[in-house]
Amino acid sequence: MQQVTILGATGSIGKSTIDVLLRHPESFNVFALTANSNLELLLEQALLCNPKYVVVSDLSLFAKAQELFSQRSLNCEVLAGTDALEQVASDSEVDVVMAAIVGAAGLLPTLAAVKAGKKVLLANKEALVMSGDLFIQSANKHNAQLLPIDSEHNAIFQCLPADFTYGDLQGSGISNILLTGSGGPFLSMPLEELPKVRPEQACAHPNWSMGRKISVDSATMMNKGLEFIEARWLFGLQSDDIQVVLHPQSIIHSMVQYIDGSVIAQMGNPDMRTPIAHALAYPKRVESGVSALDFKQLADFSFTEPSKERYPNLDLAIQASNAGQYATTSLNAANEVVVETFLQGKINFTQIAEVNSECLQQIPSHALNSIEDVIACDKNARQIASDIIKNKSVTHMVGAN
Ligand code: NDP
Repeated sequence: MQQVTILGATGSIGKSTIDVLLRHPESFNVFALTANSNLELLLEQALLCNPKYVVVSDLSLFAKAQELFSQRSLNCEVLAGTDALEQVASDSEVDVVMAAIVGAAGLLPTLAAVKAGKKVLLANKEALVMSGDLFIQSANKHNAQLLPIDSEHNAIFQCLPADFTYGDLQGSGISNILLTGSGGPFLSMPLEELPKVRPEQACAHPNWSMGRKISVDSATMMNKGLEFIEARWLFGLQSDDIQVVLHPQSIIHSMVQYIDGSVIAQMGNPDMRTPIAHALAYPKRVESGVSALDFKQLADFSFTEPSKERYPNLDLAIQASNAGQYATTSLNAANEVVVETFLQGKINFTQIAEVNSECLQQIPSHALNSIEDVIACDKNARQIASDIIKNKSVTHMVGAN
């Protein structure tokens, strides 16, 4: 019986994880569930999963959470604050940690799981983008097992040979990695319409149901940029090893191309329960609740190159990845600030890339040698991005037509 902590249980990935876990009560037991502020859903989930702990990361909600949980006959202890997130991620009773907090807030709890040598199911790509080498070194030092949850990285992982050595594509006869992306909801929108895009349009992904931040990132393709950086760290790749390919149907989740001309692709319906079930049960396979792919229903498969004009954020992320850790940490931080501002309706969709770009230009190259350096770099970039936003005038009032 594996004991599982779900960091970010109330989010899109957290909910899908609970769905898969509850299909296999003989193999998995929920040890802890965490949320930031959604107490009602956390309570509902606790009633279903009967965890030992629940954690509310927003300390100001501790008393309210205690009161809410005490009204129900539950055997779980309520904890609060970021230290408690780290505690349930690293507890000696825990075998598996699903890292599904969104954004930089996931860094320290995910690292706590890594340092405790857990099997870490990594959805929180921002943690790896922010801390790259330090994260991977820590996983190696503490024998943590990293399994990718992002559908693309999970697909690549499934298409690589079982004896793949980190960073050695040549040794495995691989020529390159094809990282697929749908292009998001604005793939065919005329470019001049993009500044008028409203938050709810950006959050309406054509194929995937996701949290709001990653939905906006998918629409700008910053998500693909963060995934590009994530893939480099997860598999030890050079920038030239990865080609981003647009595949609007989201049936192929990524591919590995071999030197003999073979291409191995992983396919499936776009439902995150597939990579979640794959990683939870790895190296076995378990049922996930995802319906089988019906090839008779697949009208067509298309593949194109993403345009730099439409998706400047993708290009920025690739440039940052080549510039070094300070740049990817800064870009991730700036992007979190500007996406949140866009979601509040205070900035235009196309200004997301403008702010990210201006922020990167203002930050000189510097080394990040510790997690403290990473956190300082993140904080500095957030401040710079906020200052840039203050000086921007919104050219179309968001929400207006
Ligand atoms: P959601 O926004 O749906 O959920 C985020 C979760 O994190 C919620 O449980 C939320 O709690 C919690 N949270 C938010 N802020 C904080 C904070 N400051 N401290 C602690 N917890 C916090 O996100 P998703 O599930 O969509 O995404 C989660 C991660 O997985 C992201 O890194 C994303 O990039 C990655 N991912 C997501 C995919 C998807 O299909 N959704 C696909 C691949 C990767 P509360 O509900 O209380 O606010």
